[in-house]
Amino acid sequence: MFFGPHYLQLFGDALRGVYDLVFHYRLTAADLQLLERHFPYYSNLNPRHQGEFRRKLEMVLTRKKFISRGGLKQVSTEMKVLIGATIVQVTFGFWKVFLSHFKKILIYPDTYYSTISKSYHRGEVNPRFGIIVLSWPCFVEGMADHRDGVNLGIHEIAHALKLENRIQYNRESNFFHPSVWSDFMTHSLREKELIRSGRDDFFRERGAVDADEFFAVVIENFFERPVEFKAKKEELYQIMVQLLRQDPITLGSGRT
Ligand SMILES: [Zn+2]
Repeated sequence: MFFGPHYLQLFGDALRGVYDLVFHYRLTAADLQLLERHFPYYSNLNPRHQGEFRRKLEMVLTRKKFISRGGLKQVSTEMKVLIGATIVQVTFGFWKVFLSHFKKILIYPDTYYSTISKSYHRGEVNPRFGIIVLSWPCFVEGMADHRDGVNLGIHEIAHALKLENRIQYNRESNFFHPSVWSDFMTHSLREKELIRSGRDDFFRERGAVDADEFFAVVIENFFERPVEFKAKKEELYQIMVQLLRQDPITLGSGRT
């Protein structure tokens, strides 16, 4: 039993610890300026939460590999910091969740053509290859209006979060509380029907496609329009607070 899964896990953790120490990313003054200027989720946190956010962001930037694709000359610091910050935002309620299965972030200079779906894509998540793919202009467009409930980065990272919760072989699985998840699924069926019938347009049509899309669209609204979300659909909003273990309304009042 010496080489059983438990020991392999311990060995893996030890290697991870050494790697994180040697290659630890340190945020620079320029990185912090980027966060302050372009990432309202961070700038609205209280100082204690900002400290936690920065520590988690350094861990994310240490662990993720950012790769340019489709003729993108290079991955800029701005790309790394803002995409990394979006991962921290969505996972902020879980100190130990880094979306470890998704080691690579592929960045395109524009929408990109998928030979599988034979269409142009803005972003996607591929669990088979452990990658998150983003078109940089589409990512920026999603961030430009941070209150319209549409944000490509949050959307794709929400897909990754839902998948990570189900992936069994690393320590990040099953972080969603099962009964809260089942409450979410009950609401999801009802809400998708409301979107399809046109009786309620709070969530955009994309949310009616399937359970994955609904989850991603709900999370976009949770972060970008939390006050409206809570006012319109309080029960579902509270389920999301419990599911993600954070409340953007109270977190966002840190400086006001
Ligand atoms: Zn989607």
